[in-house]
Amino acid sequence: ATPTALLVGTGRGAQLGILIRGPQILESTRQVDTIVLDKTGTVTTGRMSLLGVHVTAAVSADAGETELLRFAGAAEAGSEHPIGVAVVTGAAARVGVLPAATDFASAQGFGVQAVVDGHLVLVGRPRWLAHEWQITLPNDLQATLDTVEGAGQTAVVVAWDGEARGILTVADEVKPSSAAAVAQLVALGLSPVLLTGDNPTVARSVADQVGIGEVFAGVLPAEKVERVRALQAAGHVVAMVGDGVNDAAALAAADLGIAMGTGTDVAIEASDITLVRADLLAVVDAIRLSRRTLGTIK
Ligand code: ADP
Ligand code: MG
Repeated sequence: ATPTALLVGTGRGAQLGILIRGPQILESTRQVDTIVLDKTGTVTTGRMSLLGVHVTAAVSADAGETELLRFAGAAEAGSEHPIGVAVVTGAAARVGVLPAATDFASAQGFGVQAVVDGHLVLVGRPRWLAHEWQITLPNDLQATLDTVEGAGQTAVVVAWDGEARGILTVADEVKPSSAAAVAQLVALGLSPVLLTGDNPTVARSVADQVGIGEVFAGVLPAEKVERVRALQAAGHVVAMVGDGVNDAAALAAADLGIAMGTGTDVAIEASDITLVRADLLAVVDAIRLSRRTLGTIK
C-alpha cells in the first residue's frame, strides 16, 4: 500500500475509535492468523463482584467473617486489579468502614500484601501463598476451594500472621458483544486463543460462552509472553488483545498488540493499537480496516 493509503487508513481508524500508533502498523495487521485474548477485562467486563465469604472452621463463623472482610478489604485498598476492587467494594458494603493499611505491595498476577492493625495480611492465589509464603490451606478451606473452583468461580485466599483464614470468591461477566466479536474474528480466518492467569475451570466456562476453542489457563504474567512467543515459533502471526499490567510484555512481543482503552497505561504503551471502545467488536473493525486499506490500493 502507498503511504497515503495507510495514512487514510489510520485516519479512518481514529474515526472508528481505533488509535493506530503509526501507518506501518496496518501492514502487520494483514498477516495475523492467530488472536490471543486476555480474559479479565478483555473478554469479560473486568468489573468483578464479591460472591462468597468462607471462613475456616478454626474460627467462629460470624465474627470471623467480619474480621476476614475487614483485613482483606484493607489489604486490597491499594490494588487496581479487578479482584482487589471487588474485594474492597464488597467488604465495605458488608462491614462498613475498613481499617487503614500500610506497606502495601502487589505481586502482579499473584496477589497483594499489606500490614493491617499490625498484622501482615496476604490476599492472593492459593499457589502463591503456598510457594512464596509456605502457607497451606487447612483441610476445610481446601475442600471449599475445590468446590468453588469446580463451580467455575475465582477464589483467593486470605491469610495473616502466617495462617490461611478464609477464601473469598469473585466473578465477573462476559461482555455482551464478546461472542459476536469472536464469531466475526473466526469468519475473518483468525484462530482465537484465551489466555488467563485464572483457573482452568473459569477459563473454560468463559471460552465456551464466547466460542473460543483453545485455552491457556493458570498462566503467570511472565508466562503470557512465552505463550505468545511459542505461537510465533510455531509459524503463527499473532495479535494479542489485553488490558492489564500483566499483559504488557505479551502485548509488546505480539506481532500486533492491541490494548483496551479502559485498560492500564502500561498496556496501552506496550501496544500498536488502542481501542477507545472497551469492546472486542472494535478489534474486528481494526482487522477489517487494515485489510480494506491494503487491499484496495495495492
Ligand atoms: P488475568 O490473566 O485473568 O487478567 P491475573 O494474571 O491478573 O489474571 O491474575 C491471576 C490470578 O492472580 C488471579 O486469578 C488471582 O488468583 C491472583 N491475583 C491477582 N491480583 C490479585 C489481587 N489484587 N488480589 C488477589 N488475588 C490476585
Ligand atoms: Mg486482564
